[in-house]
Amino acid sequence: TLERDIFLATPRHPRWKDEMITKAHDGLVGALNILFSKSNMGKVGLSEVSVAQWKQVQSIVLANEGTLVSECGRLMGRLDLLVADLDENGDSKGWIVADLKTGNPPKQKLNEKVSRQLRFYRDLLKAINPDHPPVYAEGWYSSNQTIHRADGPSVLDEAFAAWEGMRPTEEPLEGTPGDVQCGFCEWKAWCPIWWAARRDGTLSPGSMFRDEVVRAVRFDRESGAALFERMPPLGDEGELAHSDHRFGAILRDQALDQMRELMDSGYEGAIFLGSVRVDGKIVHLGDWCEVLPWTPLLKSIRE
Ligand code: SF4
Repeated sequence: TLERDIFLATPRHPRWKDEMITKAHDGLVGALNILFSKSNMGKVGLSEVSVAQWKQVQSIVLANEGTLVSECGRLMGRLDLLVADLDENGDSKGWIVADLKTGNPPKQKLNEKVSRQLRFYRDLLKAINPDHPPVYAEGWYSSNQTIHRADGPSVLDEAFAAWEGMRPTEEPLEGTPGDVQCGFCEWKAWCPIWWAARRDGTLSPGSMFRDEVVRAVRFDRESGAALFERMPPLGDEGELAHSDHRFGAILRDQALDQMRELMDSGYEGAIFLGSVRVDGKIVHLGDWCEVLPWTPLLKSIRE
């Protein structure tokens, strides 16, 4: 619910792009032409449409930009358009969930992701409306005005399975350390995996900037000078050993504030230093760094 409330309360911020106006206009015309074809009106030049004709077109639109939420609140989707599926006499024989697509139309059939998205709207709509008429899901490609129907079995079971898979688990997911993913990961102070991977050589130490797990030997809270002892990992669960490796550091700005706060709180445990800048034998820490208590998280601590 929390994520949904935030999502719904967040306004979209489309950026107005002057150079895209022609494409946007073509897309609008393309989408309108498809809508007209769905209202059994045949080909009409858009500039010749009468008020009565437009009302007729509007009458087949059952909802637009509608939000679908499953009864349990777990699944949600926003559909572009729900229109009546008319037979040759103009009577409604079902519903069409339409998603307007501005991208490249498929050559033959819809790709798997788009098909899944469309079927998700279809199946969610059916689940919410038990007395539904026949429902079809279609991708309307404005660029060449083609309609592609998504057929296939329901995707709701998979959607619920995906929802379950996203729930926080008691045990963390298996770590997959690597230079790319660990490089910008903000969870290192809680993750024992990368530190063990550094020991095992799976992760390179980094040359200019590197992360360290240390103990403070000395810290001068006025000048920001510190002496740290490197704490190499013991095992894979975040336990640490002592070492002879000591190095000096100069802390400034955010790093200094964080270090002061930690030391003032009486903290004596190991410290994670994120992104220190190596300069010969000493390191520099500043606004680009993190100074956090080393807190390997091996199990969920949610209540
Ligand atoms: S630091 Fe840990 S959590 Fe982050 S990417 Fe590396 S292994 Fe994954």
